[in-house]
Amino acid sequence: MRPSCLIAVVVTLSAPALAAPKPAPVPAQKKQVVASIERQRPELVRLADEIWGYAETALRETRSAKLLADHAEQHGFTVERGVAGMPTAFVATYGQGSPVIGILGEYDALPGLSQKAQPTREAVVADAPGHGCGHNLFGAASLGAAIAVKEQIAAGTLKGTVKFFGTPAEEAVGGKIYMVRDGVFAGVDAVLVWHPSVETRADRVGGQALVDFDVTFRGRSSHAAYDPWNGRSALDGAELFTHAVNLMREHVKPSVRLHYVFAEGGNVPNVVPDRAKVWMWARDFTRDGVEDALERLRRAADGVALAAGVEAEFRIQSGDWEILINDPGSRLLDRNLRWLGEPVYTAEEQAWARELQKSAGVPEKGIDASVGALEGQVNEGGSTDVGDVSWVVPTLHVSVATAPAGIPWHAWTSVAASGHSIGHKGMERAAKVMAATAVDLMTDPKALAAVRADFAKNTEGIVYKPWIPDGPPPVPQP
Ligand SMILES: [Zn+2]
Repeated sequence: MRPSCLIAVVVTLSAPALAAPKPAPVPAQKKQVVASIERQRPELVRLADEIWGYAETALRETRSAKLLADHAEQHGFTVERGVAGMPTAFVATYGQGSPVIGILGEYDALPGLSQKAQPTREAVVADAPGHGCGHNLFGAASLGAAIAVKEQIAAGTLKGTVKFFGTPAEEAVGGKIYMVRDGVFAGVDAVLVWHPSVETRADRVGGQALVDFDVTFRGRSSHAAYDPWNGRSALDGAELFTHAVNLMREHVKPSVRLHYVFAEGGNVPNVVPDRAKVWMWARDFTRDGVEDALERLRRAADGVALAAGVEAEFRIQSGDWEILINDPGSRLLDRNLRWLGEPVYTAEEQAWARELQKSAGVPEKGIDASVGALEGQVNEGGSTDVGDVSWVVPTLHVSVATAPAGIPWHAWTSVAASGHSIGHKGMERAAKVMAATAVDLMTDPKALAAVRADFAKNTEGIVYKPWIPDGPPPVPQP
């Protein structure tokens, strides 16, 4: 026993000399914003659950957007509605002068995913939309963080401006791209954004750039048995095109993703189809990779049209840039995640999580709320219009667990979790980490300067050009 005791004494005595410098004290405002989120919790749960129930899809999020915009207004924000030509896009502003810190919120649902907040498959309304990406939590948490910051500005303990951006149609169209194009983010020093997930980490990988396009083939119809020689099948063009796509897979980098559906393919077998359409997305980790694939796909469309004796029209509908990661920003988020600690889940919540995992056929591990490492993150698939924002404003991105580990995403399982207390706990944690990081950016000029310098270095010489057609966003008629 004795030697080890001696060692312990030696270590203890020498510890102060060897230890890293003491961490900076936590600013009082940080504790205040966390307390604010805890106070706001019942309200945020109500907002998230209401939006979960509305489950409105891209550019139809009328009630969801109104709920959040009204809530911001009730909390003293000045709200500008219908920005960038989208009735469901809005900006809520409080305070004045610099710094200007933005927080992004989303609230659109996905078609066909309706599901009750229970661990077995059962729709609320068959084939209706559902919140399979947790955007009900996304919007509520982000607004809660903005309100917490606003309270500190109102109390005179923080200086500057906070802006909540209500950004519609992330799942289709990409509302933020139109907002970026129309200069809605001008004058913002940095934005904070989170995303619901099955894991928690300050993100250091930027997802994928994506281009959404379609190829319409036009041929000539005729009787498929009586005079087929008079026809030219548009469907032949579409089939040859997808064959070319599938051959191309062998000759692209492993990071490239190509996926399509036949959007139109004729009406009945005895009429040679004069019109067919392939709707397709191409992705890669960088937009340069996507541009390369796109150029080859354009040539393939022309080539197969020639072979089938039809015409091909290639049309880009939309696209996302990959997220530009802000290194000092992710370090701030990581530090705050670790300072906040993990939410505590009840035995019932863990049991619910395992039951959901069982239903989904994935390992029954429960919820993993641990904070993932900054280093060694793997860039998995997925794209977001946050990417476009990140090339015009420094963007700090964090993922927070709102669902049991490993469950399928964009599926009934993630809808269930997004309407459950497990989702609410993730929402609360996300609001806290964003508000705490906003405090860092508003109280520590060096932290904000580092975030801005990293952004300036990585965007030098890059001209942002959105992958959307000219003209207004495709807002559906009510
Ligand atoms: Zn999402």
